Amino acid sequence: MTDNTAPKAGDVIVVWFSNGAASAAAAHETIKKYGWYCDVRLVNNPIIEEDEDNLRFQRDVSKWLGQPIILHGNPEYPLNSAVDIWDRRHAMVFPHGAPCTVHGKKEARQDYERKNKVDWHVLGFTADEKSRHDRFVLTERSNVLPVLIDAGMTKNDCAALIRFNGVDLPRVYFEGYPNANCIGCVKATSPTYWNLVRNTRPAVFAERAEQSRRLGVRLVRHQGKRIFLDELPADAKGRPLASINFECGIFCEEPA
Ligand code: SF4
Repeated sequence: MTDNTAPKAGDVIVVWFSNGAASAAAAHETIKKYGWYCDVRLVNNPIIEEDEDNLRFQRDVSKWLGQPIILHGNPEYPLNSAVDIWDRRHAMVFPHGAPCTVHGKKEARQDYERKNKVDWHVLGFTADEKSRHDRFVLTERSNVLPVLIDAGMTKNDCAALIRFNGVDLPRVYFEGYPNANCIGCVKATSPTYWNLVRNTRPAVFAERAEQSRRLGVRLVRHQGKRIFLDELPADAKGRPLASINFECGIFCEEPA
């Protein structure tokens, strides 16, 4: 790790690309700002429960930016599958996070860091997420370059930049999902979210309902209490999804 001032020539900057709009825009800003004198790498920790169109987006971003996206999973969980991790850990949520985040994302990132030089990290924290950036710097890594915050870019700005450059955003955004995470993300407790999954991806809903019942996990909160997915009324609604913020991967600020 370098000092905490600014990158110097030849430093390795890793952009943690999550297949979402913000980290794609962060990759663009990083290459623009530092690519001429630093070694900028784009790394993704793959999880197979993401929508298949996320992979199309990943290919398009790679083409747009003219850089490969390096895939790096946790060798302890070689299937890169959240479903597999839940089964092996006999859990779908922890009190402060989720096992898929810890083993599928965080430990994958740490494994990459152990095996590769990383002088600086870039994440997709947007201008409206400065407190999340600050928390990450405090609890995880101090050598983070806040490229989107410095550029004053919000989530909408990121989406606009990507569209302006002719790249279609992941289709899940247009289906009403608040981010490009896995479909049926276990960090969500909202009835609105889970009924969206039920309506748009019934097979995923059925799979999460079966597995969570088998593992004894009440994933959804309805009328003030946690219930099993198969108990959720199909017309139940909570807050609008746009007001809900649950992010995976590098964004999960869990204790090291
Ligand atoms: S997006 Fe949700 S389900 Fe997928 S790995 Fe992250 S926390 Fe787990």
